Amino acid sequence: MAEIRVEKLHKAFGEFVAVRESDFTVADGEFFVMLGPSGCGKTTTLRMIAGLELPTSGRILLGGEDVTFNRAAARDIAFVFQLFALYPHMNVRQNIGFPLKCEGMPRAEIRARVEETARFLRIDHLLSQPTSRLAGGDRQRVALGRAIVRRPKAFLMDEPLGTLDTEFRDLMVRELRELHMRIAATTVYVTHDQLEAMSMADKIAVMNRGDIEQFGTPQEIYDRPATMFVADFIGSPPMNFLAFRGSVEPGAASVGINGAIVDIPAPREARPEGDLALGVRPEHVRFDDGSKLRGTVFGTEYLGTTQIVTVTTAHGTVKARLPADIRAEAGETVGLSLRSERLTLFDGGSGRAIR
Ligand code: ATP
Repeated sequence: MAEIRVEKLHKAFGEFVAVRESDFTVADGEFFVMLGPSGCGKTTTLRMIAGLELPTSGRILLGGEDVTFNRAAARDIAFVFQLFALYPHMNVRQNIGFPLKCEGMPRAEIRARVEETARFLRIDHLLSQPTSRLAGGDRQRVALGRAIVRRPKAFLMDEPLGTLDTEFRDLMVRELRELHMRIAATTVYVTHDQLEAMSMADKIAVMNRGDIEQFGTPQEIYDRPATMFVADFIGSPPMNFLAFRGSVEPGAASVGINGAIVDIPAPREARPEGDLALGVRPEHVRFDDGSKLRGTVFGTEYLGTTQIVTVTTAHGTVKARLPADIRAEAGETVGLSLRSERLTLFDGGSGRAIR
């Protein structure tokens, strides 16, 4: 396996910049997820790493070797598009062995390698079965077998669970995660699904319009979003923003929002002022009769142990995740308190977090 390093990787299609001077390193054995909305440049980045697209500028290093201009076939990377499209006219053995056959590996060696892979995935008893007769979970394992049989330096996966229904998807997320823990293969995984990303990734890059907005662990990205875009893209429901105009003195520990004093983590940088926004996750909002930050309950969404209560305030809509037994009637006026150490202050203009 190998580290993947991307340096100032840039791709323009005519005037349009699909990927802008991207920099990141995927450590050997790491599961790296590129997350972002449709059209943000995830697939283009992946295709450049795979060697299916030539960068406009920048470098790609695989295990320290510059492979920027190497042909795809010479990169020793497995590109998994649709994980589950098996060849229907072949049996399990032929499906798993197909990539090796394409490489021209001798038959006896293919046989040994396929059997070893099948044992590893606990499907060795199915080798002579036609794939059409397999149960769903076994089909997935055959597909995984076909992906890992070559023992490539790295895996690239582009929305491999794209077409699966939710139940199956959850199963496959666990299966992929378990597989990763067992073979520790360097993996770059593309998805627009934040839950998939959060549950699988060691590191995530959140992309937006060709830029990497933030690179970090799932927890860093969730707890300390670098931009309002990231804060809004991650989390369900996403982070709330309370917009206000004002200024915050360096070292100040509170801001006044329409008469309500809200404690905040003190900004370290020079005095932010102008259009600002206070970001708070729904689980860090509480009802508090004594608070001057007031709003009107708009509605509630019952989720079993918790509920999402939507409150309209003068600074924007706030969603609070509260225990299900707290009463909240639509139209009722409530006070809100925000957990001060978990707030993020953003510059309303640039959208960047002020730290
Ligand atoms: P999706 O999930 O929709 O595939 P993505 O984040 O993977 O989104 P890309 O496929 O990388 O996005 O595309 C990024 C942008 O580059 C898009 O706006 C797309 O239209 C544009 N693009 C991609 N390939 C080409 C091409 N060959 N010529 C022109 N524009 C392209």
